[in-house]
Parts: sequence; C-alpha cells; structure tokens
Amino acid sequence: MGRRRKPYPIFEKVEIIDAGSEGKAVAKVDDLVIFVPYVVPGDVIDIKIVKRKRSYLEGKAVKIHKESPLRIIPRCEHFGICGGCKWQNLSYDDQLKYKQKQVIDNFERIGKLEIPEILPIIRSKKQYFYRNKLEFTFSSRKWLTDEEMEEGTDQNMNGVGFHLPGMFDRIIDVKNCYLQEYPSNNIRKALRQFCLDQSYTFYDSRTHLGFLRNVIFRSASTGNFMVIMIFAKNDRDQINKTMEFLEKSFPEITSLNYVVNTKMNDSINDLEVLHWNGEKYIMEKMEDLQFKIGPLSFYQTNSDQAYELYKVARDFAGLTGNEIVYDLYCGTGTITNFVARQAKKAIGIEYIESAIEDANENSKRNKITNTRFFVGDMAKVLNPEFFEENGQPEVVITDPPRVGMHTKVINQLLLASPQKIIYVSCNPATQARDIALLAEKYELKKIQPVDMFPQTHHVENVSLLVRKA
Ligand code: SAH
Repeated sequence: MGRRRKPYPIFEKVEIIDAGSEGKAVAKVDDLVIFVPYVVPGDVIDIKIVKRKRSYLEGKAVKIHKESPLRIIPRCEHFGICGGCKWQNLSYDDQLKYKQKQVIDNFERIGKLEIPEILPIIRSKKQYFYRNKLEFTFSSRKWLTDEEMEEGTDQNMNGVGFHLPGMFDRIIDVKNCYLQEYPSNNIRKALRQFCLDQSYTFYDSRTHLGFLRNVIFRSASTGNFMVIMIFAKNDRDQINKTMEFLEKSFPEITSLNYVVNTKMNDSINDLEVLHWNGEKYIMEKMEDLQFKIGPLSFYQTNSDQAYELYKVARDFAGLTGNEIVYDLYCGTGTITNFVARQAKKAIGIEYIESAIEDANENSKRNKITNTRFFVGDMAKVLNPEFFEENGQPEVVITDPPRVGMHTKVINQLLLASPQKIIYVSCNPATQARDIALLAEKYELKKIQPVDMFPQTHHVENVSLLVRKA
C-alpha cells in the first residue's frame, strides 16, 4: 500500500481574490493557488482541501468569516449543488467585469499579447431564460435535499433534472430552472408527475435498468417548441401513453419526437429520432434569414446573443461584396449564410456530415446561391490544393471548439494569408495561444467579448486580426 500523504490543515481566514476561469473562485496562500466553488471575491473563508493537483489545490468553503460586499442572493434554490449557473451570487455587472478580466488575463498571460482596442463586453439581453436548449435526465437516484433527508430515507428516489457535478449517477430533482422560457418548466413538472403516477421506472445509470432516460427541450424565438423524449426500453404501451400525454397536455409543443436508447451511453447523435406529431423541426429566425433546426442539428444555445456575436464578426469582416470568405468550423452554416450576401462567395467547412446537410438546406431555403460547404477534419481539408481549387480567401472567420485550432490549421492560414482573420472563440485561453502563433504575420486589432451565458463563467470572444503590411 502506498504511503498516504499528510492531509492539508484547514486554511483559515483566507480572502478570495479573483473569480477564476472554470467557474471557481481563486484564493492564494503563500504560493499555493486554491480554487473554491460558490464563493466570491472579497469573501473571507476557511478552506478545506478536497483535491490536490500538480500546480494548484481544490478546496471547499467550510466557514465564512466575512461576506464580500459583492455577494447577492442567488435566485435558484438549487444554487450550491447544481453545476450550472455558478455565478448567481454575483451581480450581473460584476459577472461581466470578471468575464472581461478573464479575456484580458488570458491574452496577457498565455498569449503574451499586447492588448489592442478591447471593447466593453456586450451584455446579454436576457440574464435568465436565455437558453433555447436544455437536456434533463431521469434518475432513480435523486440527490436528497437536507429537508428531504430529515423526512427519512423511505421516500421515492425518482427524479428528473441535472447531473450533480462529478457524479454521473446522481441528479438534482429540479424544481424550477431559470434558464429556458415557458413551457419548459411546466412540461418537465407535468411529465414527472405523470410518470410517477403511472409508476414508470426511472433510469439507473449504474445498473442500466429503468424505462425513462432523458428529455430534451428546444425552443426558438419564433415560438416553436420541440420535445425529444428518450426511453431506455422499447415498451410500446408505455411509450404511446407518455407521448399521448405530452401531445394532449401541451398544444404548445410544435414538434414532438422520441428516441429509444438502449446503449450504455446517453448520446443520441447516432440513433434514429422518431417523429410523433407536429413538425419534424423548429424554425429560428435571424434578420430576414430562416434556419431550420432538426432534433440533432447544432444551433447556438442563446439565440439573441448569437445574433449579437454574428453581427460583431460581420462588422469586423467589413465585407464589400467582392471577397471570398471562409467560415471554418461552420456547424450548420449559420455564420456562412449570415455573411454570404455581403461576399462574392462563402465557403463553410465542418466535420459533421449532418450539419453540412443542414447548412446546404439553410442556403437553399434562404435562396442564397454563393455558399459552398465541405465535410471533413479541418487539419486535413485545409491545404494549398483546397485554396487553389476554391479560391484564396480575403477573409477567414474561424469558430473552433474549446480546444482551439490544430497547429496544421494555423500553418495553413499563415500560408494562405488572408487579409483578415476573425477569430470567434468560447475559450479565451486557447484563442490567445492560437493568436500568439498567428502573430508573426498578423496584428491583433480589436477584441470584442460577448456574453452568451449569464450566471456562468463562460465568455465568448471575437478577435480581429489584420495581415501586417
Ligand atoms: N460556427 C458555428 C458553430 C461552431 S461550434 C455556429 O455559430 O453555429 C464548432 C464546430 O466545429 C462544431 O460544429 C464541431 O462539429 C466542429 N468541429 C470540431 N472539430 C472539428 C474539426 N477538427 N474539423 C472540422 N470541424 C470540427
């Protein structure tokens, strides 16, 4: 048996000094960095260490000596347990301040970049009820609240809600979620009650037993509302009863679907979505464009802010109608279509085939004829022959996933050397790293953070890079 390391003592009366990038606040004791969730800068607390990593520690607040004046009362009763909305105890203005700071810190620390014009972060129009997609999990092992614990242990453990952070097999039985508009909460509550009344079994992700597995709600600014029920067993009678219940009780649902998922994992991307009634998709609108969203199609989860984000990208691109524009990591081609009319030609690249089918269909629906879409891994698709065949870009818009761009992609961009690169990112750390690599040929001109996810630490950031003369 290995020798156990001596546990750290409780660190006493430590002041929280920053709101960290992973949604946890930051404390420092001598040279040790400690991340602590659910506290805010200015709090003075006792910290118990729960995990040690190579270069930092993770802790938990066990006593609060002084509450920071920045603290506000969180709106949601699940705050402190739920993994979402971890910044609810900060005012929205303070959240924005720390997001702006997060972008600057990453650009200075990781990118070692000289900060150019940094525009004040664009506020989200809605601070709650901004998400157009939520997925809830049914579970036979809900987390009991303190009050429920007091009531005794012989209670029904079935619930529907979100996973507890770090626990794949436990969920919070969500009472109200303030992230998605009506009728999201109403449907979830009615559905839970119906399933409990019918004594249907809720899924247990340890034993893989149980009938009800997940439910996904997707909404749109057009008022369309999609429900996708996910069952773990193909029990016709129970499926029909559940779907009939939803259909009859909620005429607000414009697209009703279900999936039978008997696999070990929760992903439904590789499964057939069966249509029950209503339309097979929902429609989203942006300016005069219409986007069709199927059950498995990607769409930015905050529709209002997606529009703000795209407008920034389009402004930075400053198109005149003569340019060839590339949209890298284009998803369902929303940005490609959004800028196409101001360009000579717009080319979208993405590795999910069904997303590219959606992208083509979105062009057709909007009578846009100058877009071309390609499927493939970016690091393989982008090469000198591809640029030769499809035209040298004057402008490249790139919106990679959190890991950022592959160095091969960065090298191809340096070779193709478009006049402008607009880098849209949901992770300022990898964005700063990539921009540092592009800096040999490009000058960072502007940075515009955009808030897409109020109550969380997430920040979207758009950078404008211009080729050096
Ligand atoms: N710009 C889009 C969404 C971008 S999300 C919009 O605003 O709607 C990032 C996209 O990159 C996802 O659709 C993902 O499937 C795609 N992607 C991730 N890694 C990739 C790779 N190596 N090659 C191509 N596409 C990739």
